[in-house]
Amino acid sequence: MSLPGTAVEIWQQALKELQQHVSSSNFNTWLRDTRGISFEDNVFVVGTAQPSTADWLENRFSSLVKNTLIRMTKRNLEVRFLATSAPGESTPAVAGGERIEPTSHSQACLNSRYTFDNYVIGDCNRVATAAATAIASNPGGKYNPLFIYSGVGLGKTHLLHAIGNAGLQEGLKVLCTTSEQFTNEFVDSIKNRSVTSLREKFRSPQILLVDDVHFIAGKERTIDFFCHTISELYESNHQIVVTSDRPPRALPHLGKKLNSCFEGGLVVGLQLPIYKTRLAILKAKAEERQLPFMNAALEFVAEHCQQSVRELEGALNRVAARAQVYAAPLITVELAQQALFDVQSSPERNHSISSIVSIVADHCQLTVDDVLGRKRSQSIVRARQLAMYLAHSESYHSLVQIGSFFDNRDHSTVLHSCRKIEADLQTDAALRQAVNELRSTLHGKS
Ligand code: ADP
Ligand code: MG
Repeated sequence: MSLPGTAVEIWQQALKELQQHVSSSNFNTWLRDTRGISFEDNVFVVGTAQPSTADWLENRFSSLVKNTLIRMTKRNLEVRFLATSAPGESTPAVAGGERIEPTSHSQACLNSRYTFDNYVIGDCNRVATAAATAIASNPGGKYNPLFIYSGVGLGKTHLLHAIGNAGLQEGLKVLCTTSEQFTNEFVDSIKNRSVTSLREKFRSPQILLVDDVHFIAGKERTIDFFCHTISELYESNHQIVVTSDRPPRALPHLGKKLNSCFEGGLVVGLQLPIYKTRLAILKAKAEERQLPFMNAALEFVAEHCQQSVRELEGALNRVAARAQVYAAPLITVELAQQALFDVQSSPERNHSISSIVSIVADHCQLTVDDVLGRKRSQSIVRARQLAMYLAHSESYHSLVQIGSFFDNRDHSTVLHSCRKIEADLQTDAALRQAVNELRSTLHGKS
């Protein structure tokens, strides 16, 4: 059955409804310029200008769109997204306020991948994100300047660029820089006698974003120039956002004036994400990249990477790379363990757990059963830890496999043993010698 001629109207209605369910930046970027193309044989075709938009909608919004259309048409239907260029299409309208020619991502020096949509919110960043989104829709308002600080890899740059990208979407003039670029440009402008035009450049954006302000060189003139820029922007109700590795009061070299100006705005920190948030971040990133992670594998990564979001991403990349090398259809806990704990497939490591255990038993004058079993005397526990450590570093086997070889112990016991030996190796020369001897015996044998 077909409903010729109505696809356009149905889709216009659907867009109104979808607008209620997605963020305004998602709506403006992906949905606003789409059209209803046809609705035949219970297949609704949505047209997009770019193939990448069609793909994105297919991956991210197809069920939302489908359910919306089903609700509206009361039909069980399928949705297809199709790139169909539309000549003479107008650019999206922008909500009221001052209209200035919007800058592009590259002009604004923004990384378009850093958006609010892919920034996972948790207790560690809730306040900062709330302030950042408020700024993007109302720059120069309550939170001016906004000062975001945290240790490395916790999401400052991402949040800063997300503000900029959202500002661009709103048609605002945005400029993003780092304190290093700022310093370099200022130094060059003195050489080239172009300070006035540089001043103009930094004064004109409605949102100025400065990353890593702690790196601003300690030269007085640069800091003065920075200070003036900030006050001029502030006085014209333009928004300033800066990031730093510590709060303003811990940056005495920026001078009292600048510090008090930052303290007068909003100062917010980003904390380390807790397990739940780390897991949510990993899930979002795995989904975005369509990596076939099993939940347990994501949980494993979230448990073992606690230092920063950057570390989490690095771990995800390592596991994904390993999965690709082995053409693994599913990413399991075991694969994640192997990738993260660096069980490389070099031929030197190709030893069996049993040969490792028997060499350790010989060396420690114990029996294999002692090493594998449950006895808890100090020397036996030490030999067992050593055997687990060597099994981990000298074989292909995963922590889980090693654990089960040692009388069905849990992988976390193996991990604990490995960490204990690694830590003791730093200080215990006799242990280092024992490990070296065991390794040469092992390599001599293989
Ligand atoms: P910082 O500037 O604090 O050193 P970044 O903003 O560069 O940290 O973040 C490091 C990486 O972690 C980036 O790839 C970023 O996209 C990602 N990241 C950080 N926080 C989040 C978050 N809350 N949600 C999603 N990705 C995040
Ligand atoms: Mg950064």
